[in-house]
Amino acid sequence: MAILGAGFTGLWTAYYLLRREPSLRVVVLESEIAGFGASGRNGAWCNSAFPVSPGELVRRFGVGATRDLLLEMRDAVDEIGRVAGAEGIDAQYFRGGQLRVARGQAQVPAIKDAYESARALGLEEDLRLLDAEETAGRVRITGAKGALYNPHCATIHPARLARGLARAVERLGGEIFEQTTVTDFEAGPGPRLVTDVGEVRARTVVLAGEAYLARLRKLRRQVLPIYSLIVLTEPLSEERWAEIGWEGRECVASNRYTVDYLSRTADGRILFGGRGAPYHYGSRIRDEYDRHDPTHEMLRRTARAWFPALEGTRFTHAWGGPLAIPRDWMPTMSYDPASGVATARGYTGQGVATANLSGQTLADLTLGRDTTVARLPTVNHETRAWEPEPLRWLGARYVQRGLMKVDDRAERTGEPPTGKTLSERLGSH
Ligand SMILES: Cc1cc2nc3c(=O)[nH]c(=O)nc-3n(C[C@H](O)[C@H](O)[C@H](O)COP(=O)(O)OP(=O)(O)OC[C@H]3O[C@@H](n4cnc5c(N)ncnc54)[C@H](O)[C@@H]3O)c2cc1C
Repeated sequence: MAILGAGFTGLWTAYYLLRREPSLRVVVLESEIAGFGASGRNGAWCNSAFPVSPGELVRRFGVGATRDLLLEMRDAVDEIGRVAGAEGIDAQYFRGGQLRVARGQAQVPAIKDAYESARALGLEEDLRLLDAEETAGRVRITGAKGALYNPHCATIHPARLARGLARAVERLGGEIFEQTTVTDFEAGPGPRLVTDVGEVRARTVVLAGEAYLARLRKLRRQVLPIYSLIVLTEPLSEERWAEIGWEGRECVASNRYTVDYLSRTADGRILFGGRGAPYHYGSRIRDEYDRHDPTHEMLRRTARAWFPALEGTRFTHAWGGPLAIPRDWMPTMSYDPASGVATARGYTGQGVATANLSGQTLADLTLGRDTTVARLPTVNHETRAWEPEPLRWLGARYVQRGLMKVDDRAERTGEPPTGKTLSERLGSH
């Protein structure tokens, strides 16, 4: 097996292949270093949420398939903790659950709807709707009117997990070649990965490069690279933590379309992430796009608005990276024996647990095992390509700006979004 990409998708695939068939030869080609991509620098959320909403999943695949998928996502959260423990990976895995906070009255219907969607699938048992006071008992956020608590979520240290997993793969006999860029791949009899220094032939090639896959000519329009950005505070003093609370270290987000995600790190910092950086024409990905001053400044401002206790606190780090959005927001985990090509991609920024599920799924598919994960609706899912430029750029920017306006309007007026604007219909699923 030859795998493109040593992020969570490539590494989990290698890991499960080697666990299931220790005699396999597994080679991973990585253009930078293992964990260089989103896997090594994400917002630390390891959660069971899936990129497509439960309601939309039911509409597309029915209740049974949706339940199976969401239960596998919950298992993936546990599985990551289990493997980290078993392999001695010090990934700072902490199972604190998740709080989806209604920040402002306009967001209250969204958390109630999320609870009702889970109830419709019989998955609400351990979810809890919290009122404003109960929410403040966990974490004090300005304007919080309530929250939906979901225990199926942990925080991880992304880089430690990625590097530890790479070492686990090597211990099992996998070979990781860093600084080796795949420039093309060939499907068909004798599939192969073409690199700048030679070719690797294998029975199966696995394409696990998420947003970066848009750089390969044959996959250019399969995913839309969108940047997510993060700021990090210095470690906070005991007094500031006493003001904020958050002893449970839940992952925290609000319900903005433009997305925010927060975590409390093991060393006592606040990580505040969000979208908002503009899409780059031609799906371009460049290291300098990892920073976007206006967006980073907006994130620092927003963090201070959420937590007035941060007044005077330094923000010590700012970074970002590209995530991948497929045209229908549905990740795929696919394998075609005829072409010898397997791939998993399109996590829309919710890839930590999903990539683990991908690894299990691709291992089972390529080894011909008929398991529950090998029958999920993600398997061999096909998404249509994004529009060519300049339509892609026009559409992406229109939706990005439109969703910002919808969020701002909801906050200003206290009225929940209607869900009916063009940006909402195009930009959420
Ligand atoms: C800033 C940010 C915050 C995020 N926060 C969260 C979060 O909190 N929770 C969550 O669930 N998800 C989050 N995500 C998404 C999540 O991190 C990703 O979906 C997931 O890590 C993707 O894993 P991957 O292995 O598929 O891709 P990546 O981690 O991007 O790995 C792809 C690897 O392939 C390599 N590569 C690319 N092209 C080539 C090539 N041609 N040849 C060789 N190697 C190549 C890259 O260098 C990279 O190492 C976030 C993403 C970003 C960018």
